[in-house]
Amino acid sequence: MADALLARIRATADRWRRCPTCGGWWSRRVLEPCWTCPGCASPFRMSARRRIALLVDAGTFVEHDATLRPGDPLRFTDRVPYPTRYEQARARTGLSEAAVLGTAGIGGTRVALVVLDFDFMGGSMGVVVGEKVARGAEIASAERIPLLTVSASGGGRMQEGVLALQQGAKTAAAIRSLRDAGIPYISVLTDPVLGGVHVSFSSAGDVVIAEDGARAGFAGRRVIEQTSGQQLPPEFQSASFLLRHGHVDSVATRPELPRVLRRLVSYAGTRVAPPTVEPAPAPAMPPCDEDIDPWEAVRRVRATHRPRLRHYLDAMFTDVFELHGDRRSGEDPVVFGGFARLHGEAVVVIGHDRITCGPPEGRNNGMTRPSGYRKATRLMVLAARWGLPVVTLVDTPGAHPGAGSERANQSEAIAETMITVAGLATPVVCAVIGEGGSGGALALSIGDRLLMQQNATYSIISPEGCAAILFSDSAKAPDAARALGLRAVDLRRHGVVDEVVAEPPGGAHTDPARAADLLRHALRRHLDELRARPVRTIVAARARRLRALGRDWCLPGDDVTGPVDREGDRRELVR
Ligand SMILES: [Zn+2]
Repeated sequence: MADALLARIRATADRWRRCPTCGGWWSRRVLEPCWTCPGCASPFRMSARRRIALLVDAGTFVEHDATLRPGDPLRFTDRVPYPTRYEQARARTGLSEAAVLGTAGIGGTRVALVVLDFDFMGGSMGVVVGEKVARGAEIASAERIPLLTVSASGGGRMQEGVLALQQGAKTAAAIRSLRDAGIPYISVLTDPVLGGVHVSFSSAGDVVIAEDGARAGFAGRRVIEQTSGQQLPPEFQSASFLLRHGHVDSVATRPELPRVLRRLVSYAGTRVAPPTVEPAPAPAMPPCDEDIDPWEAVRRVRATHRPRLRHYLDAMFTDVFELHGDRRSGEDPVVFGGFARLHGEAVVVIGHDRITCGPPEGRNNGMTRPSGYRKATRLMVLAARWGLPVVTLVDTPGAHPGAGSERANQSEAIAETMITVAGLATPVVCAVIGEGGSGGALALSIGDRLLMQQNATYSIISPEGCAAILFSDSAKAPDAARALGLRAVDLRRHGVVDEVVAEPPGGAHTDPARAADLLRHALRRHLDELRARPVRTIVAARARRLRALGRDWCLPGDDVTGPVDREGDRRELVR
């Protein structure tokens, strides 16, 4: 009886898998197709073939270079010769290498795809894995389709020595060529991604998604603990760690991953094109009647009930996909960035995510840190590479002043954002929706168009700051507000603002849905105008626009007499 039972267990053992996290036993049938524990939701390690089946449209995967295999350049032997170890891995996985290369459809969009398999020698990158990544990039470039990689790797393959190490350089160069050609690259990190694979291509996606349960970094936990003699916290290098430190754009559970990739690939498949859909007629504008006192404008724009970025994201855009992190030092939640659709057209939205009521939750009331500007810069470059216009929504009292921000070089972060916009090869439309405070606002308010909501303000300094410095009395803030010319109407008069977007009578808060409607139509109109032009023309016009800022107020004067050799400078100044 017992023997019969044992025999039956043996016969079915192949159909059962034990969860490495909770220890529960599950049949393979239950685990398909996600291979995620029904008990504790932990993802099981997944083969490349199962991964591909999970992620791509059924029946669309075509494998390339399926039989490519490595030589044995070093005639390497550890406990067994490399060729023997290779054959063992081949027999165990049914693969000829640790990477599977091919093309497939994802949500109907064709992509080039490289998926690593950890079960094949720890997903290690040798000459063939490097070759498949490079060929994947070449297929993507040749067909002008996105590249997707899904990584699971312990690093470089020691058995191939420096030739394996150098695959890092080969794949990095492949990613560089994708960037130069404007080909979107999406990288998915799973458990684990370390060393050679992470220092080259997997960390360098335009968009990097960490699967929940992923661990990724340069050195593995054990190495760091041995080197430093410190015990690392359990969440070190986890997906949430990577998100919090700005290394990845988003975290997705394995069951969510197919849908996340379909969305990303759909943005990657669109490029700036002349508008295809006739815009709906704009809603009738309420008259910009109110000539409100500038101090009243400041009070209104700071009021807790004024609609903020999150309202406009919900009300004006669809299909919003948030992206995180500057990839270097952190993630600043004050700067929102992500893909979205405006009237159905894909754009990249960047804006100040200001919370004025309730706990600030680290949002500093809209004061941006250097990592926020660096995220904005990164996403602007991403937008141009993917051929998507940029929309910015400005609402900040100013950039974050603080020791940490200084240490991280706040000034350079703001400067680099502006330098990036100055030559960005895609349309950029900015709208001030609240407080446009100083350098913090400046960085996100330069582009091809600057719109301003009727009750928004835009100023070189807060009225309080101006009053304290120039009026020697911060109680004179109302006077300072009147002197600064910070209202939308004042700025339109000075040609700083291209369009004042009407708000419902009494202000945006009286009818937030209508306020969003008015702004959405204005944005759409300007984007359509820009889309109809070649990008080259847009960039040249932007350069002229930036060059002309304030030039009309550089007056020749008649009392300046200077040495002859300064005449040239003066002529340059007044031209
Ligand atoms: Zn489990």
